[in-house]
Amino acid sequence: MIFDTHAHYDDEAFQADRAEVLNELSASGIRRVVNVGANRESTENSLKLAEEYDFFYAAAGVHPSDTAEFERSPEETIREGEPAASLDWLRRCLRHPKAVAVGEIGLDYHWNEPDREIQKKWFSAQLTLAKALQKPVIIHSRDAAKDTLDLIREAGGPDFSMVIHCFSYGVEMAREYLNMGYYLGIGGVVTFANAKKLKEVVSYMPLDRLLLETDCPYLAPVPHRGKRNWSGYLPGVIQAIAGLKQVSPETVEQAAWENAFRFYRLPQPRE
Ligand SMILES: [Zn+2]
Repeated sequence: MIFDTHAHYDDEAFQADRAEVLNELSASGIRRVVNVGANRESTENSLKLAEEYDFFYAAAGVHPSDTAEFERSPEETIREGEPAASLDWLRRCLRHPKAVAVGEIGLDYHWNEPDREIQKKWFSAQLTLAKALQKPVIIHSRDAAKDTLDLIREAGGPDFSMVIHCFSYGVEMAREYLNMGYYLGIGGVVTFANAKKLKEVVSYMPLDRLLLETDCPYLAPVPHRGKRNWSGYLPGVIQAIAGLKQVSPETVEQAAWENAFRFYRLPQPRE
């Protein structure tokens, strides 16, 4: 049984056939999905999916690249039709019974927008809220290893329950996070021929800290690389992880399943 801990089925890539794709999931062994918000609109759509589908849960948060939503005034929102986010809005979302985590939040320095200071300000603010509500946190961190770690430490470090989603740094950085008790999110990238650094991390990390994720519609594993991703491709990711850790695919699948329930604090179903 597979738990996809990070998906974006609200994405427009699924617009034409979303219901069919979601209905196919259980036939492929996918029994739980956390649909992750990245801004106001996708957070609200994630909550709707969680209301509609029993096996779906939602994470609520604003991705670093969308933190400008927090900076908009109500006037601008009306004039430009762009949604605004606020901490009050986020707090309300997190009260939803199927909102299991804050995320995805973090820092992304790959792009120049929004300004780094704005990203940092709202990353810290969302961390503070997560801590107050004692919610697990899904971190997005790209080309921003040091600042991410600094801000997490400043906000409380090991007090948090966290996953570093789509982990993209090396073994040194993995060790820092694992030492604080965090999880690492591993997905399609581990199957890429050029993902040497990630393969080292997967070989190094303990299996009980690994969360399986697709980040779909992005990052489809080999041999589907470049196509629309979905949770049905996770068996190929499990295979790749099993090869690196020299255990059976069943061992990886079972460990990742248990880890996901532990991380999201959901009761594991009796079989
Ligand atoms: Zn994501």
